[in-house]
Amino acid sequence: MRNPTATQLLFEMSCAGRGTEVFPASDVPDVTGVPKIGADFLASGPLPLPEIAEPDVVRHFVNLSTLNMSVDSHFYPLGSCTMKYNPKRHERLARLPQAANSHPYQSESQVQGLLSVLYEMQTMLAEISGLPGVSLHPAAGAQGEFTALLTAAAWFRDRGENRTRVLFPASAHGTNPASAALAGFECVQLSGGRDGFVDLEELKAHLDERTAVFMVTNPNTLGLFERDIAVVSEMLHSVGGLVYIDGANMNAILGRTRPGDFGGDMMHYNVHKTFTGPHGAGGPGAGPIAVRDFLAPFLPAPVVTFDAARNWYSLSVPEKSIGRVRTFFGNVGILLRGYFYIRTLGGRGLREASENAVLNANYLLSQVKDFLEVPHGDRCMHEFVASAKRQKDLTGVTTMDIAKRLLDYGFHAPTVYFPLVVEEALMMEPTETESLQTLDAFAGALRKICSEPAELVKGAPHSTAVCRPDEVNAARKPVLCWSAPNC
Ligand SMILES: *Cc1c(COP(=O)(O)O)cnc(C)c1O
Repeated sequence: MRNPTATQLLFEMSCAGRGTEVFPASDVPDVTGVPKIGADFLASGPLPLPEIAEPDVVRHFVNLSTLNMSVDSHFYPLGSCTMKYNPKRHERLARLPQAANSHPYQSESQVQGLLSVLYEMQTMLAEISGLPGVSLHPAAGAQGEFTALLTAAAWFRDRGENRTRVLFPASAHGTNPASAALAGFECVQLSGGRDGFVDLEELKAHLDERTAVFMVTNPNTLGLFERDIAVVSEMLHSVGGLVYIDGANMNAILGRTRPGDFGGDMMHYNVHKTFTGPHGAGGPGAGPIAVRDFLAPFLPAPVVTFDAARNWYSLSVPEKSIGRVRTFFGNVGILLRGYFYIRTLGGRGLREASENAVLNANYLLSQVKDFLEVPHGDRCMHEFVASAKRQKDLTGVTTMDIAKRLLDYGFHAPTVYFPLVVEEALMMEPTETESLQTLDAFAGALRKICSEPAELVKGAPHSTAVCRPDEVNAARKPVLCWSAPNC
């Protein structure tokens, strides 16, 4: 049942006369001769604030907080986002006063412990990637891409090379071309092979002395490991270009293989995906980057260095640093959660997490492929992309309808309509933290939806507070308040 009170605004709940005047009359003497605020800037009357009793305000916000879905409340198979469970233990650890109460302007001598943790985080990320230079600065994967591209551009400039192009396959995440454009490069999109992999012939035809970087997600956004990645890397290196590995899908390969080992020159991590930092309303996140040794002198400043002779951690500026890409030294709170996760699991644990993520995805794939098309094979890495094209052609039910109907069954929708190379795409990533029962329940709901009458599915969701908002207008012209004249 839709819950109307949950969608009421505080302004609509307001009842004249319930407000409380909290400010006493001013007892500050009127000082003559001091310039006063001009009448133009003074309110002409009391602000039209809602008048509501405290319990009603509390209920309003508590009810609102239950309308959203989260990994703590629902299964969240959002492909490419790795919505794994965020261990509560790491939340508690990150809140320890030694971390939470430290301030970025404290002197090095006062934060040696915190710097040692960040240094260790750099070291662990270098080991996991096989790329020795690490910057913890970027606040998200997208900023990591941008930062790494600036680092590469500085390296090319330093060598007197003027390379202008960044290449990426059509299945790339939208942030790849956006970062390349922002970093001043010309974007060249490859269409890719029919089988979902980079088409080597097509790539070859585009490589020349203008090529700066090839950006590739591996495993790619279809959930397939780019089997020719070593050849791709050689091709890039033979024309003097670099390979950027978009590390958003690291959850598939932790401890199995490393971007540095299959030819990547730089990469980003998404701590909020792979290493259990919470994804929260666009931030805060962390998108550390790892690069080859020759790129390390260009990394953003500062990096944490360790002087073993003095047993001392310092914040240092790499020799040819591109400068700062954000304040201080990264989103430390999120980096700490990632640090605790890596330390909790250890090398073997991380590898097991990846193995289970891949196992779960393959199990889910096996459960849905008899009623949903899966165009790119019947094996996957940590995620796969199904298609509702058949449903759309037969009954008119689209991927969007299925996604909306899942909400009625208590499941967050998968990623929809991405990657663009699959029609009516449903990209599912269960992650390793879901049980067999949850995966079965989810597959069961999908199976049921695919056999329900089209009108029922097309009208979904039927149980949420709002049905289908106009998404473009909701984002561009949000109605944030009731139509009070001055708010
Ligand atoms: C999530 C994602 C990004 C962007 O990362 P953010 O941390 O959201 O900025 C880039 N590429 C891929 C493949 C992703 O899934």
